[in-house]
Amino acid sequence: MSDTIEKVKCLIIGSGPAGYTAAIYAARANMKPVLYQGSQPGGQLTTTNEVENFPGYPEGITGPAMMMELQAQAERFETDVRFGWITKVDFSGDVHKVWVNDEKEIHCNTVIISTGASAKYLGLDSEQKYLKLGGGVSACAVCDGFFYKNQEVVIVGAGDSACEEAHYLSKLCIKVTMLVRRDEFRASKIMAARVANTENIEILFNTETDEVLGDGQVVTGVRVKNNQTNETKEITATGFFVAIGHKPNTDIFKDYLNLDETGYIINAKPGTSKTNIDGVFVSGDAADHVYRQAITAAGTGCMAALDAERYLAAKDSTFEVSTSNYN
Ligand code: NDP
Repeated sequence: MSDTIEKVKCLIIGSGPAGYTAAIYAARANMKPVLYQGSQPGGQLTTTNEVENFPGYPEGITGPAMMMELQAQAERFETDVRFGWITKVDFSGDVHKVWVNDEKEIHCNTVIISTGASAKYLGLDSEQKYLKLGGGVSACAVCDGFFYKNQEVVIVGAGDSACEEAHYLSKLCIKVTMLVRRDEFRASKIMAARVANTENIEILFNTETDEVLGDGQVVTGVRVKNNQTNETKEITATGFFVAIGHKPNTDIFKDYLNLDETGYIINAKPGTSKTNIDGVFVSGDAADHVYRQAITAAGTGCMAALDAERYLAAKDSTFEVSTSNYN
């Protein structure tokens, strides 16, 4: 074995709430975790302004501030947090091999995957501009809907997520306009019917987003186009919600792990964080297309660290399971 290969007991890939929570638990269990932050240190929450639904923050906290606190907590217990992007893995043997930035090779006893998922956006310049400004574009109604209480919003998408989010928003907002690009929903019949039967949701079929309108700081409306008639019109709105799906960040694992058709990692044993490869565990949105919340990601991060600890203890009698985590 070359000198340049590093050996790590517990490698955590990803720096969202799942990764940092796994790190806190793994570090406290003396597993000396090494965490690689990936291309977006802090994960999806760093694109969120205010987080008001994470327990323990009665006044709310910004996404970036919360992620810095989680990192500090992981580092307090001596997690080795590193910049770097995992570009390749080889899970074919007993020791799991991982490459950082296509260069550095690490051999790991356990790997915790917390690579998350990325919300898809339309890609319009105006959408990206107000997203970056935190001025009214969001891909998470549960996270941000509250800020649009008693206001008018637009949501784009026609799947189960869009229906669920439109319905959620309808309970907060005066009016929700839903843009569906075809003449029918992709969502299940029951979800589509719920939206159709909600009084303050207006559904515009065959309708696409032409431009997100704003005053340079915040969203003020959306210009939409009917793709059958080419007619355009402007809708007044302070919020523009995008619900056109997520892409789990799991491409590098596809040769080894069981993924569903969208790319989410399939839990080998429901109720655990185990994958189909012994010693490789998954937490957070990389395996969750249903809940996708910071708190659920943190919960599964905890599970992954405990599962990894038990796995190591079973493999190696010199490594004792700490009792502190189970109190
Ligand atoms: P989906 O892939 O199911 O739906 C994406 C939707 O976005 C489609 O309607 C698609 O339109 C639309 N879309 C994609 N790109 C664009 C675009 N550029 N412009 C306009 N519209 C666009 O994603 P979801 O996130 O809704 O669901 C993912 C999975 O999670 C599904 O299996 C779903 O059933 C499941 N889920 C289940 C829930 C539940 O049971 N409670 C809740 C949420 C999700 P088109 O139809 O024309 O392709």
